[in-house]
Amino acid sequence: MTVHTRPWRACLALLSTLLAASALDAAPLERADLAAARELRQRALSSPLAYDLVRSLTTEVGPRFAGSPGDAAAVEWAVRNLERLGFSNVRRMDVTVPHWVRGRTEVSIVEPFPQKLVAVALGGSIGTEEGGLAAEVIQVRDLEELQALDDSAVAGRIVYFSQRMDRTRDASGYGRAVQVRARGPAAAAAKGAVAVVIRTIGTSNNRIAHTGATGYVDSVPPIPAVAISNPDADLLENQLASGRPVRLSLEITARELPPARSANVIAEIPGTDRSDEIVLLGAHLDSWDITPGALDDAAGVAIVTAAARLIADMEPKPRRTIRVVLFANEEFGLSGARTYAAQGSQEIARHVLAMEADLGAGPVWMIESRVAPETLPLVRQIHSVVEPLGVALGGNETSGGADIGPLRNLGVPVLSPQLDATNYFDVHHTVNDTLDKVNPEHLSQSVAVFAVAAYLAARADAPLPHLHPVDATR
Ligand SMILES: [Zn+2]
Repeated sequence: MTVHTRPWRACLALLSTLLAASALDAAPLERADLAAARELRQRALSSPLAYDLVRSLTTEVGPRFAGSPGDAAAVEWAVRNLERLGFSNVRRMDVTVPHWVRGRTEVSIVEPFPQKLVAVALGGSIGTEEGGLAAEVIQVRDLEELQALDDSAVAGRIVYFSQRMDRTRDASGYGRAVQVRARGPAAAAAKGAVAVVIRTIGTSNNRIAHTGATGYVDSVPPIPAVAISNPDADLLENQLASGRPVRLSLEITARELPPARSANVIAEIPGTDRSDEIVLLGAHLDSWDITPGALDDAAGVAIVTAAARLIADMEPKPRRTIRVVLFANEEFGLSGARTYAAQGSQEIARHVLAMEADLGAGPVWMIESRVAPETLPLVRQIHSVVEPLGVALGGNETSGGADIGPLRNLGVPVLSPQLDATNYFDVHHTVNDTLDKVNPEHLSQSVAVFAVAAYLAARADAPLPHLHPVDATR
């Protein structure tokens, strides 16, 4: 009806629809940019730089947990190497980090069939009192099963969480399983448990256990928390299946020291006519204390550093500034990410895109985004250059990564090359996260994807508008 009575209005609506559609279809990049990006892709595939950086960081620094001497050595390593590689504006941004020290962890089955278990304390666990503790074990699968129990069944006991993590390419198995590590100790303590033991949040059947941050709540006194390896979890369950009471002993000497100083390390490849705008490439410099962290996250440090370094040699030059940020203390509270995002709205407004590498050494199998609708044609063009590397195009609702999460929540657009996590959780947060797990070809493929994406975003003529901030409290 409206069409008949007001034809001009219908015409206008049609015209604006057509204009919007053509804006979406418009190619934001010149052919020369795409040709240069293909050249960059090939250079990345044959560059040894990323692997050399992983080898250097794991060999010369090794474990670099927040607040430790290794953490300080890693900051020195990063500044030295970024300067050596010719980056501009290499600098430290001071970050205050918590300082937890693991000490010794011993876990044994005392009854009915005494055996020592392979265990590690969860990050942030309190220590036991001197001499340790011993108590009967009650098995639950997950937080839901724990909540269903009467407090009297839990009080005075050690709660054992038996849920096993699923192996997945997109890390969703980790997201599901990690809940018991993060929230299990507080939930069990609230019901009167004296300690928590979890099946390792990992996919390896080797006798290694995974650490990772746990947390407590102010209203309930904390209790010690450890993870045991998958074979040790099987052993414990077999003893529980005997129907006889199973008692465990735990001794942990972990403690919390006063906060320490660390730093985000920042370096840039300056842009040309749009140098005020920043394309951020992030990874985290710290690792857990028990591991050299080759995959987590020396690989990410290497991917973003090598990608930026390769872009610096390109013609035409990036118009926007490529900024590498190596974040402090991702593992134990995201201290570096929070400090970085607290720079003030003017500084945050300069960030037109953020990308993060923190899921191992590749290969990249999909590229996702969280950008304004008018930026989607650019994402599609980026994808067209990396598609021959076996990369699929994903959706526009990516979470991005832990360290760029605060920026994403402030509305900064995110591009997210998804690293293949199928085997990542075999070694993640364990003593086995070592250099031999890095496949140089997969690493180079990942560098190629990050480099192409950052370069084309830094070349694109169109503005890269922010999104609405996310209410992270919901
Ligand atoms: Zn990590």
